Amino acid sequence: MKRIILTFDDGPNPPYTSIILNILKKYRIKAIFFLLGHNVKLHPKVALMIKEEGHIIGNHTFSHKDLKKLPKTGIKKQIIEAEKVFLGVLGIKPAFFRAPYGFYDKKAEDIIKKRGYRIVNWDIDPEDWKNPPAKIIAERVISQAKHKSIIVLHDGSNIRQARPRRETTAALEIIMKKLKNKGFVFDTGIFL
Ligand SMILES: [Zn+2]
Repeated sequence: MKRIILTFDDGPNPPYTSIILNILKKYRIKAIFFLLGHNVKLHPKVALMIKEEGHIIGNHTFSHKDLKKLPKTGIKKQIIEAEKVFLGVLGIKPAFFRAPYGFYDKKAEDIIKKRGYRIVNWDIDPEDWKNPPAKIIAERVISQAKHKSIIVLHDGSNIRQARPRRETTAALEIIMKKLKNKGFVFDTGIFL
């Protein structure tokens, strides 16, 4: 069986996060959402919906700073401030962590791991954050998909609010259909 993982970064970002949740529900697929503490604080109801619909929530820091440019105290603050929000709003401490931009050095890695996280990177980035047409996003994902691939898509954009993600949501429908037809099973259990 070919297994594949869908991840969404930078949310919650209404209304796109909810649109994505509805598509995932329609196809009965679970994903990992790497949320920003800053955005969860602004949109607690959407964050709760992600949790209640059975998706996994990961820590994507508080406000999307490049961890390589921060001192140790700054890195810890980014992680812990986000944890406080997750705990307060969702009652959980995430098990997974994804660094903003995927950037981290040994110093950051040590801090992240010490706080008990598993770092989750990706191998497929269709650059949906640049908002190319949905067809292009879908084509990039489908052409690169293989067993145990981790796809990164974006329901938000950093801590900016109300960023359009129409191309991503349209691409998601195409990706779901085509990869299911190719025998892929969407899973978040690979890491568990
Ligand atoms: Zn991000």
